[in-house]
Amino acid sequence: MPKFIDQVINDEILDKLSLKNRYNFINNNLMAILTPEQFNFFKSVQKFCMRFEKKNGITHGPEEDVYDWIPTFGAEGYVTRAHNFEMVDVNYEYYGAVADLLRTLALDSFDTQFGMAIGATVLAVNPIYEHHENIPIRLEALKSLVIGEESGCICITEPERGSDAVHMLTTCDEQEDGSFILNGEKVFNTNAPKSKWVIAYATAEKNNGNTMAQFLIDAKWDGFTVERVGIPWVPKLYLGHEWFENLRVPKEYVLGGIGKGREHLFEGLIPERIGIAYGAISQCWGAVSHAAIYANMRKQFNQEVLKFQGVGFLLTDLWAKTTNLTLGLLKFCEEYDKKMEKFEHNIPANISRAMVASASQLKYHCTNLSKEVCYEAANLMGGAGLSDNTLMHDYVNISRIQEIVGGSRQIQQYIMSMALRQLFKML
Ligand SMILES: Cc1cc2nc3c(=O)[nH]c(=O)nc-3n(C[C@H](O)[C@H](O)[C@H](O)COP(=O)(O)OP(=O)(O)OC[C@H]3O[C@@H](n4cnc5c(N)ncnc54)[C@H](O)[C@@H]3O)c2cc1C
Repeated sequence: MPKFIDQVINDEILDKLSLKNRYNFINNNLMAILTPEQFNFFKSVQKFCMRFEKKNGITHGPEEDVYDWIPTFGAEGYVTRAHNFEMVDVNYEYYGAVADLLRTLALDSFDTQFGMAIGATVLAVNPIYEHHENIPIRLEALKSLVIGEESGCICITEPERGSDAVHMLTTCDEQEDGSFILNGEKVFNTNAPKSKWVIAYATAEKNNGNTMAQFLIDAKWDGFTVERVGIPWVPKLYLGHEWFENLRVPKEYVLGGIGKGREHLFEGLIPERIGIAYGAISQCWGAVSHAAIYANMRKQFNQEVLKFQGVGFLLTDLWAKTTNLTLGLLKFCEEYDKKMEKFEHNIPANISRAMVASASQLKYHCTNLSKEVCYEAANLMGGAGLSDNTLMHDYVNISRIQEIVGGSRQIQQYIMSMALRQLFKML
């Protein structure tokens, strides 16, 4: 149960809002939809979260540092389940897009800011997974991130280049020995002040996307400095503002040389957007599970508020939208896993292109829904929904930032409109 300044919700309702009951609510919704394998994995992550919460006396209070929890979750294989990591001797029986969606859903009900912190480390995992080339230092970085020993971050955004990410100002100068010297500034990078490993993009010629390159950086190197950026809606997350000053990156840390950076950036944006969609739909479930329990117990005018149509019908609307979009996301993940297996991880370009549009559609739709569902579900709980007695305030807050993270709403619409153009040209 969350730590609060003063209890405003009665004991009976507060007890009923336990993590166990919120999981049960979600399980009862999803058990008919998930396969036994999916459901069993989902329940095993839930069990771990419940035990972790109890054993460590987690209150989700403001003094707790969610980054402290990552090694324990990493050791259990819950930082990411998107892949198997046999190249670093980390082998999972169950993995893939569906597994990662379910992992996210279980972690998010436990603590949504924690779920987002882990998600940002995964953004650093993916490019190293794709481009490790069996180089020892890359494998070492990959393993330490996957097992939760270290946190990671990606540095794309710059103070003067946000949505227009391909026209970067951060420069990289290639040296004779194949190393690079980086100069520039990045901002809003989730986890950066807590990260050992940083994935960064820079360009040989300012504003020229064709000359971009991608690097793995050790945050302890000379020439790398980071300050924390405050984002009040997610006070437990550490976002960074970084300066690269004649930062030397040795050759073995260059994940993609000049001309490769742009391709690597876009390759990384697809799993990032899908991951944000997982988080956003999980926030919807977190909010709906709170509101459904509360509205079934809270009485006004001598009856449970759920029975007033203004409450009950709005809640059904939020519930239906959340369920339906979960079905859509699950179907996408199932198909993605099937195709990855069928094409042995090399999905043909035409299918991959369609998935770029799907990733934007899902990111766009899920974050939009999270914004609506979290606010409206809290609203149905009245003052209690805004208080610090439950995790609802976390949901209201985190749902405010999802449309910006990973490319704003308008940028997703822009990508989708280009996809519509391509579809038209295919007629
Ligand atoms: C909590 C949080 C976490 C983040 N994590 C990371 C991270 O880990 N790594 C990282 O690199 N970055 C990260 N970001 C940065 C994020 O990706 C950017 O903030 C985002 O891409 C928008 O860029 P910007 O803030 O510069 O806004 P701007 O690009 O300045 O946009 C301002 C407004 O203009 C609109 N706009 C811009 N261009 C267009 C256009 N062509 N058409 C229509 N509208 C347009 C935008 O939609 C927005 O409404 C994070 C941001 C936040 C807030």
